[in-house]
Amino acid sequence: MKAFRGTLIDFTGNPRTERGALRHVEDGLLVVGERGEVVSRGPFPRDPDPGLEIVDYSGRLLLPGFVDAHTHSAQTDVIASHGENLLDWLERHTFAAEARFADAGYAREASEYFFDELLRHGTTTAAVFPSVHAESVDAFFHAAERRGLRMAAGKVMMDRHCPQAVRDDAESSYRDSQALIGRWHGRGRLAYAVTPRFAPTSTERQLELAGRLAREHSGVLLQTHLSENQEEVRWVRELFPWARNYLEVYERYGMVRTGALFAHCLYLDDGEWRKLAAAGAAAVHCPGSNLFLGSGLFDLAAARRAGALVALGSDVGGGTSFSMLHAMREAYKVAQLRGVPFDAFDGFYLATLGGAKALGMHECIGSFEPGREADFIVLRPGATALLERRMASAESLEARLFLLMTLGDERAIEATYILGSKPLP
Ligand SMILES: [Zn+2]
Repeated sequence: MKAFRGTLIDFTGNPRTERGALRHVEDGLLVVGERGEVVSRGPFPRDPDPGLEIVDYSGRLLLPGFVDAHTHSAQTDVIASHGENLLDWLERHTFAAEARFADAGYAREASEYFFDELLRHGTTTAAVFPSVHAESVDAFFHAAERRGLRMAAGKVMMDRHCPQAVRDDAESSYRDSQALIGRWHGRGRLAYAVTPRFAPTSTERQLELAGRLAREHSGVLLQTHLSENQEEVRWVRELFPWARNYLEVYERYGMVRTGALFAHCLYLDDGEWRKLAAAGAAAVHCPGSNLFLGSGLFDLAAARRAGALVALGSDVGGGTSFSMLHAMREAYKVAQLRGVPFDAFDGFYLATLGGAKALGMHECIGSFEPGREADFIVLRPGATALLERRMASAESLEARLFLLMTLGDERAIEATYILGSKPLP
């Protein structure tokens, strides 16, 4: 057994709606068992077991690892490309970058870099879009498995309105996805996510098969984009004239379900929010990307009214940072513009247990409950000169966390642990 001393912070539920959901032990001890599971969490004992190997992180904050509920491993090389808007950005930058993933060697190298970057930023679990090529998914899962990570991904399905180099067809996308599910889903800590890019780049036949894949394989996730940009919403109305709204397109094909992750959700009406919530599907709020591409401002108040599951996503490369601290502060700014209350506990909840719930992994990760997998991070409050100076006058835990989320980046991540150990480089 190993143990870690420091300030322990985690959540047992949503702190905005559940009293006592935030847990904070200022001088705490996290004990991790041989299989990498949390054995116990609590105050640092007066007489610690002398046989216990204790790593001393006094003065630092220990939290469950961050969950990035929406990102793209095939877009690292177009991050921070100047774009006009979503559809223009896809055409000009994204499709060309994703086309390179047909090359297995490149896909392997890019996947290794992607995980190094996630771990440097304290992200231990993510729901990820590689590319349309099966090679990109194999490369992704091999790299995740080697590091022992809990990760979800799936082959992007895309059979129209895109260049040939990133296009599949409905039947082959179904067969390839099936083979990948067989190869990877439930292997160790890996989960497969059925991944149609978004309604405009799939024929109705492909959407039908995506829904079928989700039904045929119990426990697989489903991820796509929904209502990110007004021009896109108009296009969907043209392409699917029978649908009363965007969500109904996915609904018809059985894709609005538990374990479904819908990135963005910027232009949903109350009816769509209610349906999403009733189905147990999650909205993934990607504020960094929404601001960068000028897509719009997420309506957190509507999501809360409907009781929908919400998680946070970096959406790299539309988003400009791998950091979930960055996602939290951008979410705060969007909430400010919308006049919606949003504090540091909201941010850290969404990036830990909230994300785990959206992915249906909250029984495995997202908190320090005994038995959970010990994926955790060590945050250094004085990571930069400015943070150090400012922390000196931060009295409450809320103030300290708010400073980290507002001023912090990967320099604040002192260490990232996977199953109680530092992952292989
Ligand atoms: Zn995206």
